[in-house]
Amino acid sequence: MKKIIIAIDGYSSCGKSTMAKDLAKTIGYIYVDTGAMYRSVTLYAMEQGLFPEEGIKEQELKSDIDAGKVNISFQFNAETGRPDAYLNGRNVEKEIRQMAVSSRVSPIAALPFVRALLTQQQQRMGDEKGIVMDGRDIGTAVFPNAELKIFVTASAQIRAQRRYDELKAKGEQNLDFDAILKNVQERDYIDTHRETAPLRKADDAIELDNSNMTIAEQKEWLLARYQERAGEN
Ligand code: C5P
Repeated sequence: MKKIIIAIDGYSSCGKSTMAKDLAKTIGYIYVDTGAMYRSVTLYAMEQGLFPEEGIKEQELKSDIDAGKVNISFQFNAETGRPDAYLNGRNVEKEIRQMAVSSRVSPIAALPFVRALLTQQQQRMGDEKGIVMDGRDIGTAVFPNAELKIFVTASAQIRAQRRYDELKAKGEQNLDFDAILKNVQERDYIDTHRETAPLRKADDAIELDNSNMTIAEQKEWLLARYQERAGEN
């Protein structure tokens, strides 16, 4: 089978990363979670005091990015079987999943200079193909020529419930379902309305509404799409 690029886009918390990660493992491809990259930049801004209540200090963040002060990388974690995100050499996998980051990431991801930096890094990761990348703009902006593009959707209620269950399983205390639902809806709004690379289905993407599908069913469905595409001449 030929090596291809698989782009998986869709709304927040619709199970993209679970599907993408499982597929990559099964077919021996590299998996890249681009949301983790936007989350890592957000964590950087928060830690440097560049995202106070009043809003992002754009100029300062841009200077730091231009000066090469924001380095994001991934390292495979044998225990979890997936890559962990590193910010300037520090493992931030846990911190970037917290609500404080989730509630600030979309405005950071709307900044054109942040998108330019991360898009370029993501394109480099795909130089050799054999990659499964998930995000919001992979099939439209990062790899418009990807051989297989999937666009995943599910209702906001179902996505919030999944996020709630995931955070609970990770041991987060004092979870508020309504706050999670609000965060999912807010991110949907910002992600679909921003000027640079907004979230939208690429014309040639296959849509998957997984509201009523189990993880096993999604996995099987995605593997079949891969086999079709990678088997083509
Ligand atoms: O996928 P995840 O929910 O972790 O992504 C976090 C946020 O990062 C999204 O809500 C979106 O604002 C942003 N993002 C993006 N483009 C990507 C991946 C994520 O704008 N390719």
